[in-house]
Amino acid sequence: MKRYAVLAAVAIAAYQLIPADGWWTSGWQLAIGYLGVAGILAGTHRLPRRDRLPWWCFAFGVGANVTGIPVSIYCVDVLGWQGLPTPADPLFLLLYPACALGLALLIRRREPRRNRTAVVDAATITTGLGLLAWVYVIKPATLGQDIDMLGRAVQAAYPIGDLLLLAMMTRLLRGGGRRGAPFWWITGSLGAFLLGDTAWVVVGSIPQIGAQVEKIQWFSRSIDMVFLVAFVLFGLGALHNEAREVGAAASPEPVRLGRIQLALLAAASLIAPGLLAVQLAQGRVRDGWAIVIGCTVLFLLVVLRMAQLVREVERRAAQVRDLARRDELTGLPNRRVWNEDLPRALEFARRDRRPMSVALLDLDHFKLFNDTFGHPAGDRLLKEASAAWHGALRAVDLLARYGGEEFVVLLPDADEGEAREIMERVLAATPQEQTFSAGIAVWDGDETPDQLVARADAALYAAKNAGRNRVTV
Ligand code: GH3
Ligand code: MG
Ligand code: MG
Repeated sequence: MKRYAVLAAVAIAAYQLIPADGWWTSGWQLAIGYLGVAGILAGTHRLPRRDRLPWWCFAFGVGANVTGIPVSIYCVDVLGWQGLPTPADPLFLLLYPACALGLALLIRRREPRRNRTAVVDAATITTGLGLLAWVYVIKPATLGQDIDMLGRAVQAAYPIGDLLLLAMMTRLLRGGGRRGAPFWWITGSLGAFLLGDTAWVVVGSIPQIGAQVEKIQWFSRSIDMVFLVAFVLFGLGALHNEAREVGAAASPEPVRLGRIQLALLAAASLIAPGLLAVQLAQGRVRDGWAIVIGCTVLFLLVVLRMAQLVREVERRAAQVRDLARRDELTGLPNRRVWNEDLPRALEFARRDRRPMSVALLDLDHFKLFNDTFGHPAGDRLLKEASAAWHGALRAVDLLARYGGEEFVVLLPDADEGEAREIMERVLAATPQEQTFSAGIAVWDGDETPDQLVARADAALYAAKNAGRNRVTV
C-alpha cells in the first residue's frame, strides 16, 4: 500500500510538469486511473469472495471513466468532432451508476436492517442541492441552443449522475457501521469526484472569465488532479489492511443528529425558499414550479424526519418505563410496581368489601445454596422459582420481587383459608427441592399498606422460627 501511495502521489504531482499535449495529458491521466483500478483489483483480491462485488463496481466505474479520456481526445483531436456527445460520454457516465451500485451494495452489507432516518437525511440533502442543480445546471443544459436533443440529454446526465453519487454518499455517511481509514478513503474519493465536477460547472458558468480561466494550464490541470486523486483514493481504500471492515455489518446504533448535521439539514431545507428570495430580488421568478416542488418535497421530508424522531422517543420512553417496572433477573414486577399497586388494590377491596391477603416469602437457607452451588446457580434458581410460582398462582394474583430472595404476593379476594391454600400450592411448586417460608396477613379493612406488610413480615419471621418450609398466617 505504501509503494502504491507514493507512486500515485508522485505521478499526480508530476502531472503539472508534463508537456502541454493532449496525448501526454490524457495518457498520464489514463495511467493514473488504471493505477487506481489496479489498486482496487489487487486489494479486492485479498478480500473474502462475498465482500468483493462492491469493489468490482468501483473498479468498473473508474476504469470506464478514465478510458473515456483518451477516447474523447481521439474524437476531438483526430476525428475533429465538435460538441456532444462522443463515444467517450457513455464511458465517462458509467462512473455514476457503477459507483452508486457499489455504494448501495456496501450500505446493504454495513446495515442489514433498514435505516429510514439515514434515507430521509440523504433525500433532504439531495433534494436541496438537486433543486440548485436543476435551476443552475440541468435546466440550462437542456436548453442548450447549439446542440441536439441527445447532446442536451448527455449534458444533463452529468449533474444528475453527481446528484446520484451525492445521494449515495450522504446515505453512507448518515448510516451506521465502522469508520476506519478505508471508509474515509472511499468517501474522500466520492467527495473528490463531486468537487471536480462542481469546479468545472462553476468555472463554466461564469461568463467570459470562465472560458479564459479554463485556458490557464496550471488551473485546469489542478482540477484534473482532483479527479486523479479520486481515482487513486479508491485503490488506497481497497489496499488498506482494514478494507474488509468497510463491508462489516453494523451494530444497530441509532444515527446521531449532532449540531453540524442539523445545520446541514437546515441549510438544505432552506435552499428552496432561499432560491425563491434570490429570484424575487432579481425581479423575476423563473423557476416557480421547480421551487414549489422542491419546497413541498423538502417540507414533507422534514415532517417525516420529525415523525421518525417522535416515534423513536416514544419507543425509548416505553422501553424505559418497562425497565423501571421490571426486575432484571426474574422478569417479575419489582418493588416499585408493588408499592404503586398495593394501595390501589386495597382501595378496590375497600370499595367492593372484598377480602385481601398479602404473603411475604423468603427462600430457606439460600445463603447456603449460594455457598454450595455458587452465585450463578443461585440466580438460576431465583429465575426458575419465580416462573414456577407464577404458574402456580391465580391469574389475578400479583407476584413481585421484593428484594434479594424475598418475594411478595398480592392475593385479591382471598381470605385466610384460601390464601393459605394458594401459598401451600406455591411452596410445593418450588423447583430443585428448595423450600421457602411464607407469612400471610389478611387485611383487616383499616390498616395501611405498610402495616399490612409489616404483619406479613412478622408472620414470615414466625414461620422461620417454627422451622422453615411452611406457611404461617
Ligand atoms: P433463611 O432461611 O434464614 O432465610 O436463610 P438465608 O440463607 O436465606 O438467609 P437470608 O435470607 O438472610 O439470606 C439472603 C441470601 O440470599 C444472601 C444472598 O447471598 C442471597 N441472595 C440475595 N439476593 C440474591 C440474588 O439476586 N442472587 C443470588 N444468587 N443470591 C442472592
Ligand atoms: Mg432474606
Ligand atoms: Mg432466606
